[in-house]
Amino acid sequence: MRPAIVLFTRDLRVHDNPALAAAAAEAERVLPLFVLDDAIIARFGAPNRLAFLGEALRDLGGSLGGLAVRRGDTVAETVRLARQLDAKAIFLAEDASSFARRREQRLRAELDVRTFPSTSVVDLDEVRTAGGRHYKVFTPFWRAWRAAKRRAPLEPARIRLPDGVDLGPPPDLGPGTSPARPRGGETEGRKRLERFLAGAVARYEELADALAADATSRLSADLHFGCLSPLEVAERAAAAEAFVRQLCWRDFFLQLLEARPETPREDLRERRAAWRDDPEALAAWKEGRTGYPIVDAGMRQLAEEGWMHNRARLIVGSFLTKTLGIDWRHGAAHFADLLVDGDLASNVGNWQWVAGTGADPRPGRILNPLRQARRFDPDGDYVRRYVPELGHIEGGAVHAPWELAVNHDYTARVVDHDKAAARFRAYRTSSASP
Ligand code: FAD
Repeated sequence: MRPAIVLFTRDLRVHDNPALAAAAAEAERVLPLFVLDDAIIARFGAPNRLAFLGEALRDLGGSLGGLAVRRGDTVAETVRLARQLDAKAIFLAEDASSFARRREQRLRAELDVRTFPSTSVVDLDEVRTAGGRHYKVFTPFWRAWRAAKRRAPLEPARIRLPDGVDLGPPPDLGPGTSPARPRGGETEGRKRLERFLAGAVARYEELADALAADATSRLSADLHFGCLSPLEVAERAAAAEAFVRQLCWRDFFLQLLEARPETPREDLRERRAAWRDDPEALAAWKEGRTGYPIVDAGMRQLAEEGWMHNRARLIVGSFLTKTLGIDWRHGAAHFADLLVDGDLASNVGNWQWVAGTGADPRPGRILNPLRQARRFDPDGDYVRRYVPELGHIEGGAVHAPWELAVNHDYTARVVDHDKAAARFRAYRTSSASP
């Protein structure tokens, strides 16, 4: 009997993996394969994500009883192995990026390829406007998404590998740059999921925005690499609507990227104003020394953990694009360099949203960092956790050190937010007029 190949991409799991399950049902022998693609690594191979990926691949190999790992061009390596094994078909998860779709087309030109929607909670082809198009606004997408039919999550599949295949060495892709980054792999991801379901999910709606509570799931990297199935997570957390809504945002941005593949480079909505070129302010933002403690705390959390709380992402994003007037592409690139969950669809979609060039129906809103800080970190604990030079300032006073008559070993503000906000509003008013 001819074997099948499961080409893993970012579905690095055995639970609820439709491509793996279908291959196991159809062939007696199945070769699981992952290709470290030079083109992806050159463009997206940030050390934090590579480290997580290496751990995830070792974990997957352990669960499957082996995983062939190759390096080079995914299509060329897959075709070579398929010919060598006389494989009957390639089983593969669908994905939204233009790179993934081109890869699939190139494979189809050479081999029998079966694809399965498993990167999103629902099959995004099932969530279409009445005219059969993609959604541009979240709320109607959310309504249609909730009504869409879902397949049942699948049990972990067991496979037997073909004999005599050189699997290649287990990948060690380095340690990453953020000392406190999450560890990769389905085993770790499932532990995080169980912990979340047994605890924080119950108070998600109440605490998701509370910066110091750190009460969100922290499953984003697991979902990005597919160490967890988004469908399984959505089904098991179904009672927590506010949480499920966040998973829906992830699907929304996947659909948007698929429909608008140019958005990583081009604005979805025209901005009609030049971005400011300010390398010093950009460097201060990246390094977490803008003089706004809530912004600096977020940026330092990113460097330390390879992850940042969503509320902080919104605050630092608005600060960069609206307070400082710097192009969102600089922010997205810096996030992509460090985030373990760095994901083209979610990163670009959220950055455009924050910058007012994307799917946000209120592009003119600008977040006041001080007000945000007082609302979402009222006791200042989040700031003190990441900005140790302010550790001696008690309570919410930490958010405006410039108002205190005490000495502090902390940086001056790169900009006066109130004046910058007035400039931003003036630009909005003038560009809104005919
Ligand atoms: P939870 O609050 O527990 O949410 C559960 C899951 O829902 C997340 O793991 C994530 O998969 C999804 N989710 C939550 N919020 C969003 C959102 N706004 N958009 C899309 N999906 C969401 N998320 C990424 O996964 N990768 C990115 O590169 C990324 N870049 C971002 C850039 C900016 C400027 C902003 C404002 C947000 C970005 N997000 C990104 C979305 C969000 O901040 C993270 O998904 C979230 O903070 C991850 O933490 P969590 O797993 O604890 O989330």
